[in-house]
Amino acid sequence: MPIPIQIKNIRLQNHPSARSQAVATVPITEASKIISVDAFAAVLIASEKGKRCDGCFQIKSEDRLLRKCTGCGSYWYCDSICQNMDWKAHHKKICKQYNKFTSSNAFHSLASHEKLESLLLDHLLSQVSSITGRVDEEMSPLGIFMSLLPGPTVPNRDVLSVCGFEPPIQPDTVPLLYSRFGNNNFAIHSHLTTIGHGIFPLASRLFNHSCIPNAAARYIFSAGRPVRMEVIALRNISPDSEITIPYLDPALYQTRQQIFDLTYGFRCTCFSCHILETLGPIPAPPASSPELTSIEKTLRQFTQVESFLDGGLPVIPQTNIPLSMYCVFHENYITNLSETFSKASHEGHYNLALDSGTTLLALYLLIYPPNYPQTGIHLLELAKTAWNMTVGDSGMDYQTEQATKARVRVFLSLGRRILTVFGPEGDEDGPLREAETLQSLLDP
Ligand SMILES: [Zn+2]
Ligand SMILES: [Zn+2]
Ligand SMILES: [Zn+2]
Repeated sequence: MPIPIQIKNIRLQNHPSARSQAVATVPITEASKIISVDAFAAVLIASEKGKRCDGCFQIKSEDRLLRKCTGCGSYWYCDSICQNMDWKAHHKKICKQYNKFTSSNAFHSLASHEKLESLLLDHLLSQVSSITGRVDEEMSPLGIFMSLLPGPTVPNRDVLSVCGFEPPIQPDTVPLLYSRFGNNNFAIHSHLTTIGHGIFPLASRLFNHSCIPNAAARYIFSAGRPVRMEVIALRNISPDSEITIPYLDPALYQTRQQIFDLTYGFRCTCFSCHILETLGPIPAPPASSPELTSIEKTLRQFTQVESFLDGGLPVIPQTNIPLSMYCVFHENYITNLSETFSKASHEGHYNLALDSGTTLLALYLLIYPPNYPQTGIHLLELAKTAWNMTVGDSGMDYQTEQATKARVRVFLSLGRRILTVFGPEGDEDGPLREAETLQSLLDP
């Protein structure tokens, strides 16, 4: 069957187990933008309401005061341009009913992720009802959205029935839209922190998931425009290779297959999932600290994290993993290690912070693909921690200070390199800017 979607530098072709795959038709270089696509519908998470423009998602600041929609008092905008854009797209259908809808018992009885779903569904339905008649156009966002495969789970009727307004669209269409919703819904982030959810039909149609993806989505907010997703190549992609993105955090070693089954309706067959299958059940990390220390040592040796800190970052194959190290793939292990690092760094226990942070870096190298943005952010955090150590310890001798500064330089240059590949996303003053500031402190 021909696949009608035509995108520059990408071809959709058959895939042995998925519906199709997007392959590169030309060499795609690391850090280049593969596609750029506007949100078809998007909604802020509850904690960001009133802090950002509901139209363009830009954050409130001294230079950007937000004004309230006088109709509902619950949507906020930078200016009349954002407000008009949102009004035309969906808000004119929602404004009058929004408060009744969100104060209803039915809405309150939903779990918080279902509340967000029902609001996004509201935006989607309003958006669709404004553009009926274009549903058959294959390349329109709605046409592409309707061509997506429905998710594996039966839509939650409560979310549907709570969804406040009755749009002038075919009632039969609502479940069709809703069934394509849970599995085609992206977390929108700024500096990798989730601030909203959105639907980007073209990205859903093109890219399959991989736990070792060669591309990733970043989000751009600009005045008077809907949120834009840009898919960026994390490394060089050769012609005829598949382009993949992560649908969820590859660190979810234990739960990811279950999420794929329940939410997305596929089994991931990437190399990492294949290795995971050969490992069998993942043991819980030990509770005793000598055993943990020995596992940390094995992990650091396996990834050679200390020896490469002088050069570039190596690619660590997930093969021949020692049995004693299996528990590092337990989700509790990464959670505990991340907590130890952030707490120690925050409280000024710098030796513990640098030690646990280096072990965490070793783990990131093992579980994330090269140039994965989370690794870049972590390297920046390590650089900041080492820098704070030199500033915070006034009794530090000259040699230790120079050695610690040398570590800052290494963490910073490795981190900046990765963050530059991913590029800036979301709000201004992100991690790339922080890295520049730290660099100027280091080498004034
Ligand atoms: Zn705005
Ligand atoms: Zn309103
Ligand atoms: Zn996988």
